[in-house]
Amino acid sequence: MKYNSTTDKNIVVSASQAIAQGISTDGGLFVPMEIPQYSISDIKALTKLDYRGRAKKILGDYLDDFTKEEIDECVDKAYTNEKFGGDNPAPLSYEKFGDTDMNILELWHGPTSAFKDMALQILPHLLTKSLRKTTPDKEAVILVATSGDTGKAALEGFKDVDGTKIMVFYPVDGVSPMQKRQMTTQEGNNVAVCAIKGNFDDAQTGVKRIFTDSELIKKLDENGYLFSSANSINWGRLLPQIVYYFSAYAEMVNDGKIKLGDKINVAVPTGNFGNILASYYAFRMGLPINKFICASNSNNVLTDFIATGTYNKNRSFYATISPSMDILVSSNLERFLYHMTDGNDAAVKGWMTSLKTEGAYSVDSKTKQKISDIFTGGFCDDVMTREIIGEFFNKYGYLCDTHTAVAVSVYKDYVEKTGDKTPTVIDSTASPYKFGKAVLEAVANGEELPDDEFEMVDLLSKKTSTDVPAPLAALKSKQTRFTTVCAKEDMADFVLGTLGVK
Ligand SMILES: *Cc1c(COP(=O)(O)O)cnc(C)c1O
Repeated sequence: MKYNSTTDKNIVVSASQAIAQGISTDGGLFVPMEIPQYSISDIKALTKLDYRGRAKKILGDYLDDFTKEEIDECVDKAYTNEKFGGDNPAPLSYEKFGDTDMNILELWHGPTSAFKDMALQILPHLLTKSLRKTTPDKEAVILVATSGDTGKAALEGFKDVDGTKIMVFYPVDGVSPMQKRQMTTQEGNNVAVCAIKGNFDDAQTGVKRIFTDSELIKKLDENGYLFSSANSINWGRLLPQIVYYFSAYAEMVNDGKIKLGDKINVAVPTGNFGNILASYYAFRMGLPINKFICASNSNNVLTDFIATGTYNKNRSFYATISPSMDILVSSNLERFLYHMTDGNDAAVKGWMTSLKTEGAYSVDSKTKQKISDIFTGGFCDDVMTREIIGEFFNKYGYLCDTHTAVAVSVYKDYVEKTGDKTPTVIDSTASPYKFGKAVLEAVANGEELPDDEFEMVDLLSKKTSTDVPAPLAALKSKQTRFTTVCAKEDMADFVLGTLGVK
């Protein structure tokens, strides 16, 4: 199976090339030229497998220049019981919020307590195998822009992986204290972390610019390096995320919550549009999905886009208590638009150019209609997010993080408005302990709280009778290793300096 660029169909690469490169040379994103089709009996076969078995089947169908042994090795190394605290890395928790069933898909049982682990524990294995096939004599320099969770998950996935170096850029005031501590204490001999004076979009734009800077690429090439990406612009990030939608469906069938062939909805707390796009690929492969519920925080550029067909990032940027969704340029929307226009690369290129130059674009009415037939959007501000966390825990006994709460809120609004009773999978994307302060405030009913992050975490644990994930508890005693803060214009210099290239 081949992949082509969203903005130029003539650029065609193999699966391993798509993963090794991360982004196309023309700045477009790689998309599969055909999508594997699963019948209901194929899905039935998945219900008999465990998570690793499901992952092997799905990854194998997309990565046809990998051998079966290679796929098996990647999956078995990534999704171990040790790393994910049990046999199923993506378990469902069946909850109730008032009359509404909440089928919570907990995607944060990995080593960094956010759903990014689902992809970033396997990406290093996929990437190193891809590099061996495409450029065996080069060392990969992985650049990551992060709104908090990707950075840590990528550092943890790539640390001490032979043939790779990893550098992470995060917005200096745009991540939670726990997220910052996770990154600045990162261990490993091939890692570097840099805060930038700017927001996530600045970091992402800076990284994208470096990736397409031909002079810089040449300089690295002469020194035996090549750039690659661990952001969700890389197909190797997106693909593993398709698996948990099939897995959730299979579990619901096995648990008697739905019958094989029944439709489900998905509700996804969304930032860069990677997670929800993975569910769309699952749908295109044959998973019976009725509606995609795209949940945003106050940075509700996607809510407006789904409602109006106009994407406009020229608006206030809010630093919210769900910082991993504080994003105004949702990279993966580009892939979605490509599929929604049946592969109209010229149209996608036009919109993306307009986004770069004007900060906005409007899709045609046919495309807008196609989108709103299956997607619905909504948003939830910080006040409401806290309210939802408090009510969900205090009344119904389930503790969720700030991002998950956004999806719960938007889903509740959707059910109230539509009366749609379709069983719905709600993605839970982080452990509440990653955003301890906001979560504690939400459940504490106005009582006085400690200032120290780790005291807060302990108090949250005591109050809610839930456990602090061990890797987060261990951060308290770790040394800080990375303190560099740089201007957003100086990111390339940081890269060269870290590599010792002049
Ligand atoms: C990254 C992240 C999101 C947003 O996911 P996208 O794939 O970027 O839409 C939501 N919640 C958490 C906790 C995250 O880390």
